[in-house]
Amino acid sequence: MSEYVKNLMAEVKAKNPAEPEFHQAVEEVAESLALVLDRHPEYRAAKILERIIEPERMITFRVPWIDDQGEVHINRGYRIEMNSAIGPYKGGLRFHPSVNQGILKFLAFEQVFKNSLTTLPMGGGKGGSDFDPKGKSDLKIMRFCQAFMSELFRHIGPNTDVPAGDIGVGGREIGYLFGQYKKLRNEFTGVLTGKGLNWGGSLIRPEATGYGAVYFAAEMLASRNETLEGKTCLVSGSGNVAQFTVEKLLNLGAKVVTLSDSNGFIYDEAGITKEKLEFVMDLKNVRRGRIKEYVEKYKGTVYTEVDPNADHNPIWDNKAQCAFPCATQNEINRKDAQNLLKNGVYVVSEGANMPTTLDGAKLFLDKKILYGPAKAANAGGVAVSGLEMAQNSMRLPWTREEVDERLRLIMKSIHKTCVEMADRFGTPGNLVNGANIGGFLKVADAMMDQGVV
Ligand code: NAP
Repeated sequence: MSEYVKNLMAEVKAKNPAEPEFHQAVEEVAESLALVLDRHPEYRAAKILERIIEPERMITFRVPWIDDQGEVHINRGYRIEMNSAIGPYKGGLRFHPSVNQGILKFLAFEQVFKNSLTTLPMGGGKGGSDFDPKGKSDLKIMRFCQAFMSELFRHIGPNTDVPAGDIGVGGREIGYLFGQYKKLRNEFTGVLTGKGLNWGGSLIRPEATGYGAVYFAAEMLASRNETLEGKTCLVSGSGNVAQFTVEKLLNLGAKVVTLSDSNGFIYDEAGITKEKLEFVMDLKNVRRGRIKEYVEKYKGTVYTEVDPNADHNPIWDNKAQCAFPCATQNEINRKDAQNLLKNGVYVVSEGANMPTTLDGAKLFLDKKILYGPAKAANAGGVAVSGLEMAQNSMRLPWTREEVDERLRLIMKSIHKTCVEMADRFGTPGNLVNGANIGGFLKVADAMMDQGVV
C-alpha cells in the first residue's frame, strides 16, 4: 500500500468509524487510483478523491408506521446523496435489517463509479431502511413504503435524485413508493425507476442486472475466444439479480447448478432448466418462500444449510468454470476464493455489490482469472434505469429488443473501457483497476470543470 493510500485510509477510518464496508470500498478504489493520481497531480491538488469520499448530503429520518394489530413500529430511513457531478443522484433503495449508514455509504460510493462507467448522465446515491420485509403481508409492506416516502419525497425528484430497487425492494415496493410520491407531489414524473410497465417502466429493467452480468462474462470470455456455451456455473442468491442471471445463462447454453438464500443453497447436478427457474420465480416473487422448497419439488437435488459464522460458504466449493455471486456483500472471502479456484472456476462476474472481500479479490487478480468486479459487471441494472429515465423524458417507450440491444452494447462498452484503462495504467487484465479508473476519470473531470462545490 502506498504512503498516499495509507494516509488517506487512516483519515477515512478516523472520520467514519464503525463503517467497515465503506472503508473496504474506499481502500479498493484508492489503491487503483494511486496510479492515476501519480500521473495527474492536478486531481490530487484539487483533492478530487477526498471530495468524492465525502457524501454531498446524507439524510437520515424516522419512519413510524402501524401494523395490522395497531402496534406502532419505528424504523430508520436513509438517503445518501454521494455525487452529482455528472447527473442527478441515482441508485437503489435497500430494505433489510442489516442496513446501516456504513453499508449505504459503501453502496453509494460504488454507485458513483458504476454510473459513470455506463456512459449515461447519472450521479451516485443509495438509500433504504433497516425494515425487514421478510414474511410481512402486502398491507404491512404498503404501509411501510408510504411512511418511508412521506419523508423521502421532499428530497428526491426526476432532476434531483432518482431511486430504484435493491435488496428487499422490487416491483411491488416501487409501486407503493411511486403511488405515495405521486399523491404527495401531485405530479406524474420519472422519479423512480423499476416502475411497472403500464405506468412508465422500461421493458428489460427487471432483467437488466442479471442479463448484464452475463453479457459481461461473455465479453470477458470472448477476449480468450471462448463462449458460455456448455460451461457449468455457480449462482448465489435467488432474488432479482440471480433469477435473470440464470435465465440469460440458460439462453446462452450454459448449465447452472446452484441457487441460494440467506439460509442455505441448493445443488442440482442435472442443471436448473427453464421450467425449474419458473418454479423458483413463483416461489420467490409470488409465494415468497425459501429456496429449500426446491429440493422437495425436484428429486435428485440437494439442499445444504449454511452457517453464517463458518469460515467459508460451501456453495463456492463445487466444481464449475464460472461463478456469479448475486446475493450480497462479502459473500466470497479468501477461503471461498481458494475453493473456487481449486474447483476449476476461472470466470467470476459479480452480480451483487462488493460480493468479494479485498483478499479474495486479490487472489483472483494474482491468478489472472477473468474477474469482472461489481462496479462493471452489475452496471446493467442502473444502465437500463438510465434508459427508463430517457424514455420517461421523451414519453416514448422502446421495444424489448431495442432496450436489450442497448444493454448489450453498454456492457460491451464498459468491458472495453475497463480493458483499455487497465492497459493504459500499466496493469493489463486487471479489470478492478480498469473499472475504478474508467469510472473515476469522467467524474473527476466534471468536478474539475465545476469548481470547488
Ligand atoms: P433481492 O431480490 O432482494 O434478492 C437478494 C437475494 O440475496 C435473496 O436470495 C436473499 O436471500 C439473498 N441475501 C440477501 N442478504 C443475504 C445475506 N446477508 N446472506 C445471504 N444471502 C442474502 O435483491 P437483488 O436485487 O437481487 O440484489 C442482490 C444483490 O445485487 C445485492 O448486492 C444488490 O445490491 C445487487 N444489485 C442489485 C441490482 C438490482 O437491479 N436489483 C443492481 C445492481 C446490484 P433471503 O431471501 O434469504 O434474504
